[in-house]
Amino acid sequence: MQRVIVWFKTDLRLNDNEVLFKAIQNNKEIIPVYCLDVNDFDQGPFGFKRTGKFRTKFLLESLQDLNNELKKRGSGLIILKGKPEIEIPKIVLKYGATKIYTKKEVAYIEKNTLEKVQKEVSKINCDVSIFSTSTLYHPEDLPFSIKDIPDVFTDFRKKVEKESTVRPIYNVPNEIKSPFLPEFNLPLLSHLIDVNTLEFDDRSVLNFEGGEANAIKRLNYYLFDKKLILNYKQTRNGLLGSDYSTKLSPWLAMGSISPRYIYAKIKDFEAEFGENESTYWLIFELLWRDFFRFMFKKHNDKLFLLNGLSKTVKHQKNTNLDKLDSWIKGETGNDFVDANMQELKATGFMSNRGRQVVASYLINDLKVDWRYGASYFEQELIDYDVSNNWGNWAYLAGVGNDPRSSRYFDTEKQASEYDKNGEYRKKWITTNNVR
Ligand SMILES: Cc1cc2nc3c(=O)[nH]c(=O)nc-3n(C[C@H](O)[C@H](O)[C@H](O)COP(=O)(O)OP(=O)(O)OC[C@H]3O[C@@H](n4cnc5c(N)ncnc54)[C@H](O)[C@@H]3O)c2cc1C
Repeated sequence: MQRVIVWFKTDLRLNDNEVLFKAIQNNKEIIPVYCLDVNDFDQGPFGFKRTGKFRTKFLLESLQDLNNELKKRGSGLIILKGKPEIEIPKIVLKYGATKIYTKKEVAYIEKNTLEKVQKEVSKINCDVSIFSTSTLYHPEDLPFSIKDIPDVFTDFRKKVEKESTVRPIYNVPNEIKSPFLPEFNLPLLSHLIDVNTLEFDDRSVLNFEGGEANAIKRLNYYLFDKKLILNYKQTRNGLLGSDYSTKLSPWLAMGSISPRYIYAKIKDFEAEFGENESTYWLIFELLWRDFFRFMFKKHNDKLFLLNGLSKTVKHQKNTNLDKLDSWIKGETGNDFVDANMQELKATGFMSNRGRQVVASYLINDLKVDWRYGASYFEQELIDYDVSNNWGNWAYLAGVGNDPRSSRYFDTEKQASEYDKNGEYRKKWITTNNVR
């Protein structure tokens, strides 16, 4: 029984958090820590910030909420700022911690940071215990080893659905014992990025606010309050309003809610109101999320490469900065693409349909290196998730997990199918576009 650090990352929640649960169960006192990694606010190799204004605001709200919830149970959150491999060992020494509890990482930079922390704290006799907490299916419950996971989604899904089960969720701890912790000290938005405040654009699909309580509220709204899940399969390709899809992605990406928690609530819903194709389809989409994460685990950094998993050279380096710039600004002249890009720029969100169309346009029509698009999304998206973003982009570029070699979206056809009356384009292509 000892004193340990709980290093929160993209698991900013108390519900179904194995890291927190096990740390409390096996130790006397815990010290909850979050490190604002300076690298996350730097520029990436394609010239975009790794974290833009929408996600930074959402992150700060999530941290505030986490601190509130920890405090209610007798603890609190220490916010560090700097490089984790420098800041975390300092806390280990300050509190005489013998162990760090944290979540597993699958992507290159995140894995690297974790390894650096492990190396540094081992020098001061501190171990690191790592738990897989991001996916619906626990990696140990998969019917194949990571290296044998099928590269085609349908093959993966069918076998997992048949042979694996989803583990039950961990309960919220009632009480958390911690030593005396310093006053919670959250930086301002302007301390992390060059923006003071962020004005809400009232055309946004939703006023996204970070934190576990808001995630659960949104889930309850979508399931029990409005029963929107009953028609999810029919509406999920929509473009307008808050209700066509769950909008849970920002909270899932921040780890304010776990896919297992969502799954458990869908099962409760089905028990009360019955299941249908739509209630299943939400689980199906969560499986896509698992799939991309496992693909990162299997293929390491390959999904960041221009030719991804492809054995042949499919793309040449092509950086047409003018075309890229017009795409980013939503000024390509293609009104459906432009409307979607305007929405992203103004709100940090874009529908799944929109993302597919604008990505295909950048790759196939403008013929720009797809990684510039993925990096711009990384900066702008409020729900950026490393495996979901890069996995989907590589997929659309024909160098990821797709049995088809190319996914071309005809923008005219897409617009006439999904924006028949031009309502979506009218909303975003206005004279005020130059904001
Ligand atoms: C080019 C491109 C980039 C993308 N980048 C991201 C990203 O950075 N972060 C992110 O969370 N999603 C990303 N997606 C997937 C998808 O567009 C979003 O998850 C979805 O639009 C979020 O809205 P929602 O929560 O209302 O989704 P819903 O339709 O309600 O789906 C529920 C959840 O299922 C998961 N999901 C749904 N579709 C996908 C998918 N295609 N791939 C993986 N998981 C999915 C998400 O976690 C989502 O929150 C990307 C898709 C494309 C085509």
